[in-house]
Amino acid sequence: MAVKVGIPRALLYYEYFPMWKTFFEELKVEIILSEKTTKAILNDGVKHCVDEACLPVKLFHGHILNLKDKVDYLFVPRLKSVAQGEYICPKFCGLPDMVKFSIIGLPPVIDTEINLRSPKSNLYHTFNEIGKLFSSDTYAIKTAYDKALKQQAEFMKKIRQGRYPVEILENKKVSGNTEGDLCIALIGHVYNIYDQYISMDILSKLHQQGIRVITPELLDDDIIQYKADLLPKKMFWSFGKRLLGSALHLLDMDRIDGIIYMMSFGCGIDAFVSDLCERKIRRKKNIPFFLLTLDEHSGEAGVNTRLEAFIDMIRWRKRNEGNISAHG
Ligand code: SF4
Repeated sequence: MAVKVGIPRALLYYEYFPMWKTFFEELKVEIILSEKTTKAILNDGVKHCVDEACLPVKLFHGHILNLKDKVDYLFVPRLKSVAQGEYICPKFCGLPDMVKFSIIGLPPVIDTEINLRSPKSNLYHTFNEIGKLFSSDTYAIKTAYDKALKQQAEFMKKIRQGRYPVEILENKKVSGNTEGDLCIALIGHVYNIYDQYISMDILSKLHQQGIRVITPELLDDDIIQYKADLLPKKMFWSFGKRLLGSALHLLDMDRIDGIIYMMSFGCGIDAFVSDLCERKIRRKKNIPFFLLTLDEHSGEAGVNTRLEAFIDMIRWRKRNEGNISAHG
């Protein structure tokens, strides 16, 4: 029987799952993915996580609980950096420890460090460390690694061609992202936007209103980098850079009618980046900006009302004010 490795359908699942899945499966390891987020999974996560954590980290704990009795190993890499000269949020570094100390009775956790900050870092060594748990054949590990990178590149290519990550990961079509009368930029972490439960399916809500939605993932990395480089100081958080660089780029596009920033309660990066975004928007263009804060208590009815009001306001302004605010 194949060894089973559990991968939580949370956090960087939305970024790197094709690579991880290919690597493990090439080594004849069976991947078990946690179920899609439900209220029960979220509640379990909240119950087993420290109060101070952000919503996505609490949810991650729920996905671990969903997997823990079904697998031989859990895959929770210790992610420090995914790009040279940059870091990702410190919560990712501590994630394996948080999980191990908060939840009892876990199977062994694969918590290999991934740190690409230095030019000398070598991703293959990291994969080799993981691969050695399942195979003593170094050629097989290298082949699995090469295929995994190729699969990840394919995934990224499809996203740049205009498909949302969740469409590729779950092989489904997200309802009609076609040209409508409005185009909205939806800025937020990939694990918030594409988790249907956590985001309260905001993508579909917007599409059903005939709105085209652009998310940071659909933009080219070079454009994001270019815009981030215009900031007076280097943005050394990879995900913060992506969010801010995207917002700055989209702000310069005439076609954007409004920006929604989806932030997680308890996220330091979001608190900082959303505020910077709002200031830049107010200074530059004054296009409608909506800050949607998500936490475990977010009520869907309240979000729907605010979203509808935001869209109505944009349409009203377009119709009656030639998009010039009547209030300054
Ligand atoms: S970036 Fe923010 S939302 Fe993501 S894990 Fe870190 S604190 Fe949580």
